[in-house]
Amino acid sequence: MVTREAAADSAAGPAVRTYQVRTYGCQMNVHDSERLAGLLEAAGYRRAAEGADADVVVFNTCAVRENADNKLYGNISHLAPRKQADPDMQIAVGGCLAQKDRDAVLRKAPWVDVVFGTHNIGSLAALLERARHNRVAQVEIEESLREFPSTLPAARESAYAAWVSVSVGCNNTCTFCIVPALRGKEVDRSPGDILAEVRSLVDQGVLEVTLLGQNVNAYGVSFADPRLPRDRGAFAKLLRECGHIDGLERVRFTSPHPAEFTDDVIEAMAETPNVCPTLHMPLQSGSDRVLRAMRRSYRADRFLGIIDRVRDAIPHAAITTDLIVGFPGETEEDFAATLDVVARARFASAFTFQYSKRPGTPAAEMPGQLPKDVVSERYQRLIALQERISMEENAAQVGTTVELLVATGEGRKDASTARMSGRSRDGRLVHFAPGGADIRPGDIVTTTVTGAAPHHLIADAGLLAHRRTRAGDAHAEGRRPRTGVGLGIPGIGAPPKAATSDGCGR
Ligand code: SF4
Repeated sequence: MVTREAAADSAAGPAVRTYQVRTYGCQMNVHDSERLAGLLEAAGYRRAAEGADADVVVFNTCAVRENADNKLYGNISHLAPRKQADPDMQIAVGGCLAQKDRDAVLRKAPWVDVVFGTHNIGSLAALLERARHNRVAQVEIEESLREFPSTLPAARESAYAAWVSVSVGCNNTCTFCIVPALRGKEVDRSPGDILAEVRSLVDQGVLEVTLLGQNVNAYGVSFADPRLPRDRGAFAKLLRECGHIDGLERVRFTSPHPAEFTDDVIEAMAETPNVCPTLHMPLQSGSDRVLRAMRRSYRADRFLGIIDRVRDAIPHAAITTDLIVGFPGETEEDFAATLDVVARARFASAFTFQYSKRPGTPAAEMPGQLPKDVVSERYQRLIALQERISMEENAAQVGTTVELLVATGEGRKDASTARMSGRSRDGRLVHFAPGGADIRPGDIVTTTVTGAAPHHLIADAGLLAHRRTRAGDAHAEGRRPRTGVGLGIPGIGAPPKAATSDGCGR
């Protein structure tokens, strides 16, 4: 039999193997997938064309939802016939579910070639190669971080907006959350590394960065580099440093933890012009009793106090949140407390979740698990309240002038409505009429809000301004930023003495 590869070899040298990464779960995973893509491309793979079968399919998994594994194994099993027909095709499973299930992945899906964990995504290309060479599946799970993921090459998805990790892992122990078990203790990058990556992105045209960590307010207490002293003010300083980067127009961050939120961060937000007037701060529950059971160490009053201080300093800040309904033991009184905080906080929008057991978390074993119909009924009431508030808050925007970073993939109906879509500085999604101008994703437009819905704004009055940007040029030319290569960023721990540069911009 002549394989596809052998045929190509004989005609034009070794065939380039193609890859596809399928991502499940949160922003962390989305950003990890950019790194997986960057790693594979650095190893000579090429992204498979849209709709084409890839030689390597990587599942970057998530373990936070109940039944996440059933869905994942269902999806992997769809590839079994392809694998049978083409033994050279490879399947890799990484991310949180792989870290949790380990060898069990191969028991459940024996046609998988590689299983890797959250701490060793840098091994993927070597594991694929070893599996291919030895014709034996490879499982490699590390217990702790081997190298800071940002040292790895990343092939970014967007030409104009980028994630930048400030930390990985989390030192908290929220009882509903699997992150500490699967991502480990918090490890913080040095400010110099982070700023070097931001500068590199801006040099490549990026206008907006989102600083990413499980708990950005704890940034500075667990530096990977032991030479850096603990610094509780490190996150505020980082925001201010971002303010000095020429060409960086928008800085966002996610997620802060209310327990560790300090006023120096609010001051830095208010006083740094490129930090956007928006805050996503998870409330989870408005009941102090439930917050205690969740092991979230703030109380509703503290949460509302932070919001008041943010609004005092940044009057137009759009504040959003995460909420869980139906945590074990939640009473009607507890739920009423959540409704009360939601009504007082007036979130611009909220990500609302019905509690479901996450295997491996303390809450999954707690007494007082609520029937699904009770959870669902409360959820509907919460949604109704939040939708009303979102609608009112958005309606108040009608007539205002907004500056939008034009985005791609944000407006499902754009083709039929002849609109384009973008995000305002406060994070609101705005569908606008371009009025015949040649506008590219990555450009900046200014327009007037003419209509509102709970989840978006409309701006049909025509543009007040349009600025062509380097990000728009890059998007139009199909150029995407690359990071993690050539920055000289050190791994975990102090860099070796012989190192001549640590990539530090300070
Ligand atoms: S703060 Fe809590 S919810 Fe967030 S990642 Fe850490 S343990 Fe999970």
